[in-house]
Amino acid sequence: MSKNKLGSAMSKQAMEEACDRALSNHEAQKEKELIDLIAHMVVDVTFMELTREKKLLEHPKGYHLDGSHSCEICGCICKDESTWYDRYGVKCITCQAAVDKKIISKTFFKKRDSYYTMFDLEYCFNLNAKIIRRWIKLGILKAREIPAQGGGTHATFFLIKDNKTFLPPKHLIKSAIAKEIKDGKEEYVFPVPWYQVFDQPLDRIKRYGIAQLLVTAQP
Ligand SMILES: [Zn+2]
Repeated sequence: MSKNKLGSAMSKQAMEEACDRALSNHEAQKEKELIDLIAHMVVDVTFMELTREKKLLEHPKGYHLDGSHSCEICGCICKDESTWYDRYGVKCITCQAAVDKKIISKTFFKKRDSYYTMFDLEYCFNLNAKIIRRWIKLGILKAREIPAQGGGTHATFFLIKDNKTFLPPKHLIKSAIAKEIKDGKEEYVFPVPWYQVFDQPLDRIKRYGIAQLLVTAQP
């Protein structure tokens, strides 16, 4: 047996062990192509990270990246001069300006459970933006607003540490996954908000101010 054929046979055996069933040659070939693709992607990502880290040594405060990237803070797509990369990650220059002005910290976005976004509040508590803005205006809810470059607001965050008595920790309001049985098989479909899962949802968060307002909140 040639070295290549031996390698291929061993790969198929390893894949069959991982799948816990026999694979046809066609299935094994498809699996191998997928593994090769993932391996190439891992190599590409590793190379890209090493290149970025090397450049960071020359520019420790950060620099613009080439091409389009997703901002790790606001999620928007930014490009070339609109990007900023430093040891804390990839950001758009609007969010980076908010970090420089200390409106938000360099690392708050790394802990996803430490804050709510506008979308989180709308989805998790079945609210609309009008009510949320009213609560901000009344001082009930403390927001960190990232100013847009041309005026207005670029993004808004609600840190739990800023709203300790008002917003519950996120583990209390985790979404559930809806399951559907089709042809005897269990299929995962979409997330369901926590308040549709529990019989008395407000009891879970009754210690927090938002629970009192959810009863009466009207658009
Ligand atoms: Zn951003």
